[in-house]
Amino acid sequence: MCCGAPLRYTFVDLGMSPLCESYVPAEKLNRMEPFYPLHVYVCEQCFLVQLEEFVSPEEIFTEYAYFSSYADSWVEHMRRYAELITDRLGLDKRSFVVEVASNDGYLLQHFVKKGIPVLGIEPAANVAKVAVEKGVPTLVKFFSEQTARELVSEGKRADLICGANVLAQVPNPNDFVRGLKLLLQPAGVVTLEFPHLMRLMAENQFDTIYHEHFSYFSFLSAETLFAAQGLTLFDVEELPTHGGSLRIYARHTEDDSKPVTERARALRQREVEAGLLKLETYGGFTEQVKETKRKLLEFLIGARRAGKTVVGYGAPGKGNTLLNYCGIRTDFIDFTVDRSPYKQGKFLPGTHIPIFAPERLREARPDYVLILPWNFQDEIVKQMSEIRSWGGRFVVPIPAVKVLD
Ligand SMILES: [Zn+2]
Repeated sequence: MCCGAPLRYTFVDLGMSPLCESYVPAEKLNRMEPFYPLHVYVCEQCFLVQLEEFVSPEEIFTEYAYFSSYADSWVEHMRRYAELITDRLGLDKRSFVVEVASNDGYLLQHFVKKGIPVLGIEPAANVAKVAVEKGVPTLVKFFSEQTARELVSEGKRADLICGANVLAQVPNPNDFVRGLKLLLQPAGVVTLEFPHLMRLMAENQFDTIYHEHFSYFSFLSAETLFAAQGLTLFDVEELPTHGGSLRIYARHTEDDSKPVTERARALRQREVEAGLLKLETYGGFTEQVKETKRKLLEFLIGARRAGKTVVGYGAPGKGNTLLNYCGIRTDFIDFTVDRSPYKQGKFLPGTHIPIFAPERLREARPDYVLILPWNFQDEIVKQMSEIRSWGGRFVVPIPAVKVLD
């Protein structure tokens, strides 16, 4: 799916796992549930870390449970991005902004408020409907070369194409990037955010691997992919979101009005020094993942033997990878809670741990609360500080199992 080289080297094999966003309603608890291999490879040529495709994007994204607006710090992050990019590119009423995988309009709404014309492209009809209700025009489609062609034939070309957490989710990144190339104005800019592979490896974030994420990019592998389609990465920002992400800036290779920045050069160099162009660097990840499983089980066994209660906080995709890989069910975790009403009353895929509203924590007064979306831990600890009033403690599983003070 990357450069065409055969995939022969394992990055990590997390065994069989259900689709991490397929929350199970009560009436389906006794039905068969599909599990698929979660086996990740690294390409020996372009060093793209990638999942073999067993599940089609249609199965995953057409009825999707993730509404971006339920995470406050994420909404704030994207509001700041809208300010920054509007200034940097001088966007105004004559500009055209396209967001790929625009979800519920959480980002584009900020451009709409400024009077900047926008178009969202979002394949999940249930999520797109929420965006349209907010006044964000949204096309219910997957973004591809074909989608770009259709828009261009209607005379549409974008000054800015943006996307957060979409590049990793496309099964055919070459086709996706060809679409970006087509849809972009000659002097336009593409910005994309995705979790940074270098951080995933350094900080052991194996739970961010799931069937919805087909690829795991370094700056180097993204650069290779874009260059093959005539786009140059000219700038990059390192962001704290999702445990460490990159926001890459791309332009047409022939547009030399935007020189490659020093920080893009510097990051490239750091990745080379970290060994990301050598196969053996990827080989040690598996043992690190196994050790995390042993440590988490050790903690849970210890806590339950001591008669302590443990519940979860959150029902994110990453939690499902972690719990399924570690084999943690209601034997260790009584229930979890989530702010999204869409998930409440349902059960986690695979492990069938029930999901309740956050108020349930108050009634249960657990000894430990395992924070599954560890990337939002500061926000969660603040919101749920009353846990500490009865002596409850927060635990984060990644990068290493840690009980918070
Ligand atoms: Zn490759």
